[in-house]
Amino acid sequence: MTKQEKQTIKEKIENDIILLTGQIKELEEKVKPISPDCGLGRLTRLEAMGEQHVNNKILDEARVRLTRLNNALQRIDKPMFGICIECEESIGVGRMSIRPESVRCVECANLL
Ligand SMILES: [Zn+2]
Repeated sequence: MTKQEKQTIKEKIENDIILLTGQIKELEEKVKPISPDCGLGRLTRLEAMGEQHVNNKILDEARVRLTRLNNALQRIDKPMFGICIECEESIGVGRMSIRPESVRCVECANLL
């Protein structure tokens, strides 16, 4: 991985962190408890609860990814960045550009 490639990935991580933080804030608004007297009909209320359930799942995943991205940002200047934690081979710039939080190469990730 060249310095230039690393820089591009770093910018992507920082950008993704900003996007995710915004998404998480929006989702946190959406998953606030639905008050029982907010005037929704029974069906609408069930729908709202279903939607809330989905949003909670998305929110969980977004939080996990945010943590991983922050970790990646701390690792990026270290020699182990871009190195698979299982087989210690280089993960590959292609994969790191798409998922900079990766700690495993495609082969090892597929074995999980
Ligand atoms: Zn590997």
